[in-house]
Amino acid sequence: MQDSANHRFVMTRDDFPALLAALRDCGYSLVGPTLRDKAIIYDAINGVEDLPAGWTDEQEAGRYRLKRRDDNALFGYNVGPHSWKKFLQLPSLTLWKAQKTDDGFKVEARDDTTPRMAFVGVRPCELRAIAVQDRVLTGGDHIDSDYARRRKHVFIITVQCTQAGNTCFCVSMDAGPRASEGFDLAVTEIIDAHRHEFVIEAGTDAGAEILERIPHRLASETDWQNAQSATQRTADQMGRQVETGGIRELLYRNAEHPRWDEVAARCLACANCTMVCPTCFCTAVEDTTDLAGQTAERVRRWDSCFNSRYSYIHGGIVRESTRSRYRQWLTHKIASWHDQFGSSGCVGCGRCITWCPVGIDITEELAAIRASDGGTGQEGTDK
Ligand code: SF4
Ligand code: SF4
Repeated sequence: MQDSANHRFVMTRDDFPALLAALRDCGYSLVGPTLRDKAIIYDAINGVEDLPAGWTDEQEAGRYRLKRRDDNALFGYNVGPHSWKKFLQLPSLTLWKAQKTDDGFKVEARDDTTPRMAFVGVRPCELRAIAVQDRVLTGGDHIDSDYARRRKHVFIITVQCTQAGNTCFCVSMDAGPRASEGFDLAVTEIIDAHRHEFVIEAGTDAGAEILERIPHRLASETDWQNAQSATQRTADQMGRQVETGGIRELLYRNAEHPRWDEVAARCLACANCTMVCPTCFCTAVEDTTDLAGQTAERVRRWDSCFNSRYSYIHGGIVRESTRSRYRQWLTHKIASWHDQFGSSGCVGCGRCITWCPVGIDITEELAAIRASDGGTGQEGTDK
C-alpha cells in the first residue's frame, strides 16, 4: 500500500493538531516525545503543545545535550534514552497478587484492560526494533501474552529521519533512515523558507481512515522527491558505521580476542546499555510477601545480562567476569541473535553508545575485533 503514489499526501504543520485530535477521537491515547529532565523522552502527551518543537539533541559516546534549533521542527531530534518497549514490554509487571484468607489464599483478578495507544514519532530504527521484539516475544511457541495484548492495539506514526545523530548507524544495520513498512502512517517533516509541511504515507487501512478525517492534499512528484532527498541526506551524514559482512562468524571465531579484556577494563557492568536498548528483552521474576504475611505477589522486571545474578544457575554464576558479560551481550546482539531469531538484535539506534557512562562504543568494539581478527575458531571457556 505504501509503495503506491496514490497513498502519499501532504499536510501542513498547522493541521498537525488535527491529526492528533483525530486519533483521540478514535479512542487512542497519545504517546510521544516530550521534554523532561533535560532530555527528549517518551510519555503520554495531550497534543502538539507537548512535542519538543524547536529542540534538537547533540549526542556523542557518553554524552547527550539538548540544544535549540533555528526552526520550529516538531521532530528535529534523534532518539533519546527511552524506547517504545517501555509501553509494550513493561519495565515492571505484576504477574499475580494473592491475599491470605481464613482458609488459604485468594488470587486477585488482574486488570488486563489495555489502552488503545497511538505512538507518535516512531523512528525507522525503532520500528525495526519493535519488529525484532515482535519476533522474540510473540513469534515462537511461547508467547508473551501481555506484550501481545498491548501490541495488538497500537497505532504507529513513524517519523522518517531528516537528520542523523552522531551515534546513529542505522544504515549499516539496514534499519533506516527511511521506513517503508510496519507503520500505519509515516511522515517526513519538510521545512524551508516558504513552508512547514509533512509528506505523509499511509501504510494500512487504519492509517488511511485517520487521514480521511484531516485536511490534506495528494502529494506531487516533487513533494515525494523532496521527502526522499531529505532521508537520503540523512543516510549520507550517518554518524557511525559497522562493517557487517561475515560479522556473525567474526564474533564466533574471536571468543578469545584480547579486545574483550580491554573493554572489560572500562566497562562498569552498570547495565545502562541494555536498559536503553530497544531490543533487549531480558527479565527477572521476583516473589515478595509483606512482613505480616497477608499478601504475596510475583513481579516481572527488566533485567540485564550485565547483572551477575542474571547468569546464576545450579548454585553458581556462569558469567562472573565483566569480560564474559560484555562478550555475551555483544555476541548475542550481533551474532547468535541471527541463529535464534533470524535477524540481528541491533538496529543501529546508537543509544548504548550515548548512554554508556564511560563512552564504550559498540561500533568501535566491532571494528577493533575486525581489525585484528585473530581468533582460533574455538568457543571461549572462561568465566
Ligand atoms: S558497556 Fe557501558 S553502559 Fe554497558 S554495562 Fe558497560 S559501562 Fe554500563
Ligand atoms: S545494541 Fe545499541 S545501537 Fe544496537 S539497537 Fe541496542 S542500543 Fe541500539
